[in-house]
Amino acid sequence: MSSAVLDKLKAGVRKFQTEIYPGHEEKYILAASTPQRPSALIIACADSRIDVETITSSMPGELFVTRNIGNLVPAYGEMLGGVSAVVEYAVSALGVQHIVVCGHSDCGAMKGLLNPEAVARMPTVENWLKNGHAALSVANALAVKDEKQSDLMRRLTEQNVLLQLQHLRTHPSVAGAMAKDELTISGWVYDIGSGGVRICEEGNKAFVPVVSAGAGAGGATA
Ligand SMILES: [Zn+2]
Repeated sequence: MSSAVLDKLKAGVRKFQTEIYPGHEEKYILAASTPQRPSALIIACADSRIDVETITSSMPGELFVTRNIGNLVPAYGEMLGGVSAVVEYAVSALGVQHIVVCGHSDCGAMKGLLNPEAVARMPTVENWLKNGHAALSVANALAVKDEKQSDLMRRLTEQNVLLQLQHLRTHPSVAGAMAKDELTISGWVYDIGSGGVRICEEGNKAFVPVVSAGAGAGGATA
């Protein structure tokens, strides 16, 4: 069975080499021959339906990306590891000017926060999700009577993104670059079904839809 999966992946590589690469050959050659200088770091969920390059129409070399379950950023000093190293490298070595924390609709990690028994048999996942517990606390605190589960999920997803932005600011590389006005950060929620993206810009608490050029004022896409 596993070889069938590998065969499908190989077919995908062949398709890339014959159909996609040739159309962008110059960009790939340029990317290979110059140091990478991505302008943004995107921290997104590992969910297989999330494709940050596609939703931002980005090419190789433009985005530094890290993905994990729940698009979480451990606060500095807690769980120093992959995410913290990516943040530090992106800011200190690559000099990215913007960091995005990108959450999404129907996130399994948010469902895991709401239903801890669902992850009880996965101690590593359970431990990782602690990085989102404060968001769960806020989302529950803001609950209204007879609220729909979908409204709670939406609020938790947003609060989680806001919490991770807070965590991001605790990283010395981020705090220093922001103090020098060399770095800004934003929180996104991507809606898988509609393609909509809502963004909370620095200093705001509200998530505002990115409107397509032809939609005009009030023509929200999310
Ligand atoms: Zn997710």
